[in-house]
Amino acid sequence: MKRVYNFSSGPSMLPEPVLRRAADEMLDYQGSGQSVMEMSHRSKIYEGIISSAESLLREVMNIPDNYKVLFLQGGASSQFAMVPLNLMTKNNKADFVLTGQWATKAYKEAARYGTANVVASSKDKTFTYIPELDPSTFSKDADYFHICMNNTIYGTRFTKLPETGDVPLVADVSSCILSEPIDVSKFGILYAGAQKNMAPAGLTVVIIREDLIGHAMDITPTMLNYQTHADNGSMFNTPPCYTIYICMLVLDWLKNTIGGLEEMKKINEKKAGILYDFLDHSKLFHGTVVAKDRSLMNVTFVTESEELNAKFVKEAAENGFVNLKGHRTVGGMRASIYNAMPVEGVEKLAAFMEDFEKKNG
Ligand SMILES: *Cc1c(COP(=O)(O)O)cnc(C)c1O
Repeated sequence: MKRVYNFSSGPSMLPEPVLRRAADEMLDYQGSGQSVMEMSHRSKIYEGIISSAESLLREVMNIPDNYKVLFLQGGASSQFAMVPLNLMTKNNKADFVLTGQWATKAYKEAARYGTANVVASSKDKTFTYIPELDPSTFSKDADYFHICMNNTIYGTRFTKLPETGDVPLVADVSSCILSEPIDVSKFGILYAGAQKNMAPAGLTVVIIREDLIGHAMDITPTMLNYQTHADNGSMFNTPPCYTIYICMLVLDWLKNTIGGLEEMKKINEKKAGILYDFLDHSKLFHGTVVAKDRSLMNVTFVTESEELNAKFVKEAAENGFVNLKGHRTVGGMRASIYNAMPVEGVEKLAAFMEDFEKKNG
């Protein structure tokens, strides 16, 4: 069996020990005589899985007690509507920073339900930087302030949070959750599609401060009301059972094999450092974003020609480095190096790039 190094932006690699354990437990989960895919979500044994996924997440992320953890479906994209439906209800207004396509989608969806105000944007330079924010330009009466913490497509990230005072900060953390420690208490809501750094596709994790629950607009569909899920322990309807189980295994790996988020951060900084150092010294390859705003998770780069980009992507794939093509809307290359990508995969990619440069530079 030969496994590739998969640099996909999502769904993406899962830790090999997780896949092996899932394989071992596939036909008979802990003596139950069935796989986790087959069991009732209301069974005692499944209750053990979902509650241990939640308590591991709380422990690993150090989530304060006044926050609820919700295991939902619909992807991060559903949160673009769910957040305004539940929060934009006092002054019917929210602030947005446009740092890429996902941030813009969140803004456009919210604009269907109330006044969505753009505080800053980096669209003028194809989202290659995080704009400086001046708190005096924020709406004092906003119901929330939205950012996309790590911009998966462009390869930038916020390293400093906006000072929003009493206005709840809401962040899309789909592509950076669990990559490094984060102070949950600074946020009203954190949400993430799980398929980047937590689990396979199908699960959306929402971490929400309790006082923000229970104020949804009257038009809010029952399934899009945070209260519905908070009141029912994410079991109002059938949750994405198997994905939550894999999420539990990933969290167990993160806690017990990696040693927590501080350790994960060191590994992620090392991986990103290898690629950015190479890009800073290369004559053929160039990073596409402002150095201070570089993402730890998604490394974007180009050569000087589209032909060479295409040649690189093709030859890389032939050598076991797959999914290095940049997002269809921006071109170039992108190496997504989430938690499960081993350091060795990144070292080998950098060596391959160096070799490609020698032959094509
Ligand atoms: C992938 C991604 C999304 C979309 O997630 P879905 O789960 O496919 O809806 C939204 N935001 C960010 C930052 C992403 O990386």
